[in-house]
Amino acid sequence: MDVKAVRRDFPLLSGGSSLAYLDNAATAQKPEAVLRAIRDFYETSNANPLRGLYALSQRATDAYEEAREAVRDFIGAGSAEEIIFTRNATESLNLVAYSYGSLLQAGDEIAVSVTEHHSNLLPWQQLAGRTGAVLRWIECDAAGIITEDAFRSALSERTRLVAMAQVSNVLGRENDIRTFARIAHEAGAVFVCDGAQSVPHMPVDVRALGVDFLAFSGHKMCGPMGIGVLYGRRELLEKMPPFLFGGEMIEYVTREGATWAELPHKFEAGTVNAAGAVGLKAAIDYYRAVGFDEIVRREEALSELAYRTLAGIPHLRILGAPEGAEDSAVREGAGAERHGIFSFTLDGVHPHDIAEILSADGIAVRAGHHCAQVLLQHLGVSSAARVSLAFYNTEEEILRLGESLRSVRRRMGYAE
Ligand code: PMP
Repeated sequence: MDVKAVRRDFPLLSGGSSLAYLDNAATAQKPEAVLRAIRDFYETSNANPLRGLYALSQRATDAYEEAREAVRDFIGAGSAEEIIFTRNATESLNLVAYSYGSLLQAGDEIAVSVTEHHSNLLPWQQLAGRTGAVLRWIECDAAGIITEDAFRSALSERTRLVAMAQVSNVLGRENDIRTFARIAHEAGAVFVCDGAQSVPHMPVDVRALGVDFLAFSGHKMCGPMGIGVLYGRRELLEKMPPFLFGGEMIEYVTREGATWAELPHKFEAGTVNAAGAVGLKAAIDYYRAVGFDEIVRREEALSELAYRTLAGIPHLRILGAPEGAEDSAVREGAGAERHGIFSFTLDGVHPHDIAEILSADGIAVRAGHHCAQVLLQHLGVSSAARVSLAFYNTEEEILRLGESLRSVRRRMGYAE
């Protein structure tokens, strides 16, 4: 990959900026092609899609439905009716919790892992509260790994739903979704996969994985904010009630009641984010133009370098890493396994101070609880700094990060 050329595609990363943007798990930067596609939509095709009978509205509808088809193809879904556009992964997961969740009863069990982002935890906790269903926890070990045994022991004959991220936004660890989905199905449960941190970084095929639902956000994969996706298996979506009610999601309305539109419109009430969908399609096209295999290979290489760099810094602890991992002890491939996400602490320094010092050096990292307080409690920390990479990051940025981090304790007044 010609990284210099790739970076020129991103207005925010080119044009003389020396910012090392290492907060890609929060949101990714946008290439010119995505910005142009959004602008083009508003300049040439803007009308309310799905309702007008005139040519301009038809153009808007076509652009929106082409985007749906692009997403279907990107994640290997069987039909475009199984792709529902939402605002983000959070809304997609809430849709499942409110809609599929309304089919649950008191005493049913919902299994979630302790590593989840709040977006894949609170909807289930609230659902349990509403229905009297019981939340069961799937534990991880000290390295953040969820074993098959741990998974099985959280399931019972009452389990109706299992919710789990493919990649953790704190540890970067990948769960064996294909195996876990199979076990969940054997137990009679549906499997909800949070793909917010996986879909942007690895080829995800919903049928190969065997998941019933997959949620992700456009903005973490170079698309715009405000567009997200819920994939759902058609037979499940068909029996689920609508989540939001209003325009464009009905078949017929009378004084007494209403019937619902066909999939996917049943779940897309109100004016849709057509420009966002068009921008997401442009992001998918951009991934293809760069080459998804290339993207994955480059992120693996950067991830290895980042792990080695971080592991060699005195007093720095990578969450979910063997205690005191020294540079020389880092196993080959251990970095790539983290999918470019590393959360860490530095002895004696608050993570917010780490982020502020790095910011002064022109490096953007996240610090805080990363919307995963149950995981941080489990790991015994209240806050951590996090570096998260994308294919457009450079080796030089990672080395700069290392240098800056080595100086943090000294700059906080420690002797070394
Ligand atoms: N799940 C995971 C694993 C995430 O990392 C995030 C975003 N931080 C979300 C869900 C929620 O994504 P969004 O804020 O785009 O809805």
